[in-house]
Amino acid sequence: MVDLKGQYEQIKERVDASILDVIHSAAFINGPEVHAFQKELEAYLDIKHVIPCANGTDALQIAMMGLGLEPGDEVITADFTFAATVEVIALLKLTPVLVDVLPDSFNIDPEAIKRAITPRTKAIVPVHLFGQSADMDEIMAIANEHDLYVIEDNAQGIGASYKFTNGKTVKTGAISHVASTSFFPSKNLGCYGDGGAIFTNDDALAHTIRGIVNHGMYTRYHHDVVGVNSRLDSIQATVLRAKLPNLDSYNNARRAAARKYNKAFEDIQNIITPKVKGNHCNTHQNAICDTCDCHVFHQYTLRVINTDRDALAKHLNDHGIPCGVYYPIPLHSQKAYKDDRYNEADFPVTNQLVKEVISLPMHTELDDEQIDFITKTVIDFVHRERPA
Ligand SMILES: *Cc1c(COP(=O)(O)O)cnc(C)c1O
Repeated sequence: MVDLKGQYEQIKERVDASILDVIHSAAFINGPEVHAFQKELEAYLDIKHVIPCANGTDALQIAMMGLGLEPGDEVITADFTFAATVEVIALLKLTPVLVDVLPDSFNIDPEAIKRAITPRTKAIVPVHLFGQSADMDEIMAIANEHDLYVIEDNAQGIGASYKFTNGKTVKTGAISHVASTSFFPSKNLGCYGDGGAIFTNDDALAHTIRGIVNHGMYTRYHHDVVGVNSRLDSIQATVLRAKLPNLDSYNNARRAAARKYNKAFEDIQNIITPKVKGNHCNTHQNAICDTCDCHVFHQYTLRVINTDRDALAKHLNDHGIPCGVYYPIPLHSQKAYKDDRYNEADFPVTNQLVKEVISLPMHTELDDEQIDFITKTVIDFVHRERPA
């Protein structure tokens, strides 16, 4: 699905040298590399505070702890996402409220958010799924109206932008009150182990969070709040420093691959290619243009209609092509997150998507020959399935 080795070959000299430097400096934890990376990412995102931490799941949990959410508070998030999002809500004894998503963008449905709001609702967690921003115009308006926090889960969206109706363009993760991201190796900005970060423009919240990630300590050995231990180490930070200057070109390479996939599938019935909503970005109408970063294609995800999706996945694997089903089971149907309050009728889109989605290889090193082979193998199967 990803070619991390090919990408490493391009930056090997810098990465090898800087990892050796960290080893020679012995500043493994909280060293100057972590601080430098933090500053560089703040500049890239145009945000006041980046607080590095151990992984993207911690980042979400710590963001919620920093906001002072309390047991019983309801947090609305998408039914169609990776489980980490709902897991930390439940871990903190907050009440997860899962809602349906939109069929075109796969992102949380603002109308479903509105229907789920109760007097106990405290926060909304939109996930910028597969690399495309959720509908932040609507979501921020709903949050303002009901006085709710918004926490962007930007684990899949780093480098993407959102263009607001008023013309303002903001990088995802810098839109809401607080946001989280992951530097897991296969993410768009990945390190060589685990890593994550929390983003905010709120000075007081940033201060609170800096204490929480460090055992609730604001003064050495004075523990004012119950915190956690969640750190990005210097070796991961130095890898991220080597990659950050390439993030835009990495995302361009992903978009170029997505464009080629779309072209190959454009006349194929039964295949729905991913829609770039581009929210008010007039440069494209569902096309993936060269210049805009509305979508950074963490995943390239097709919907296959009237086709046996699992048989297609097997067909691809049999031809040596990796593929993934993100996600095969709605969160509201997962044993850990079942709740009597949920009604199947409230999740028509997620319940359909879990049967239709399939993600093809997507990374920075895909070449034309690979894309040709992948698309031909998909098309062969879809045509064979559908008798003329
Ligand atoms: C990867 C991911 C996470 C978790 O990140 P980790 O670094 O693996 O803990 C959270 N949310 C989403 C949407 C993700 O894709």
